[in-house]
Amino acid sequence: MLWYRGTTCCGDVGASCCGVGRRTPVAWDDKPESALSHPYCFADTSLNEFVDAHQPELENPFGMDEQCTNCPGLCDVRENVVHGYGDVGGEFLFIAERPHTGADETGIPFTGDAAGERLQSILGDLGFVRTEPDAAEPDMQNAYCTYLTRCRHPERPPTETEIDTCEPYLNAEIRMINPQILVPIGQRVLESLATEYTTRRPDSFDIDTEHATTVRGRGFELVPMLELDRQTDADREAFVDHVVSNVFSRDYRQTKGRQSR
Ligand code: SF4
Repeated sequence: MLWYRGTTCCGDVGASCCGVGRRTPVAWDDKPESALSHPYCFADTSLNEFVDAHQPELENPFGMDEQCTNCPGLCDVRENVVHGYGDVGGEFLFIAERPHTGADETGIPFTGDAAGERLQSILGDLGFVRTEPDAAEPDMQNAYCTYLTRCRHPERPPTETEIDTCEPYLNAEIRMINPQILVPIGQRVLESLATEYTTRRPDSFDIDTEHATTVRGRGFELVPMLELDRQTDADREAFVDHVVSNVFSRDYRQTKGRQSR
């Protein structure tokens, strides 16, 4: 089985593009011969040359510095620098404030603890992962997970200075992925993204009110989510229902504009 990578399809239908549509799985035997010259349209998990042409790996795919020491107060107490993970062609970018304890230990975002399993479960319900919520290396498609700061202090949240210091990593990911939807997880991330991508004052946002809604921004839509460790099962269901009923059901890609972050 091969997987059509709709987010990177060239769209040159009628010439040599597959043109079969977004995220449609197709059998290798059904692949047009011309697809051999279109590695971005097809990815075969058994054929490294196609995978490599699209994305070398899900973990830290942009090869960011895994020994970063830019924050003196974090680099001696963290277990791992937890850079982003997922599909570099993803339309959805999930952003939390900092790694949870599990990710700090594993080095892979949203794994190794209950908070990670909750997000993986949500991603699974939305069709973004095909692995179980407790998978050590989630098989992610069309989504990418990252943080405001990639290092965790065990006893406190990051300072504003640390968030500012780590911001270039996030900016680079947003610029290279260029997603359609940003999912800020928690109040602090919501305020940070609102500063950059909406015309509202950041302090006008309340994550309890904005959870599972769509906020129109500049270049992106924001779909805020409550902090994972604060979510009830009802909160979780509300988020999934909102994305399925109000985001997937329309062509959210039409709202997209290029951003310059
Ligand atoms: S939080 Fe970001 S900038 Fe600071 S040390 Fe970690 S990776 Fe580097």
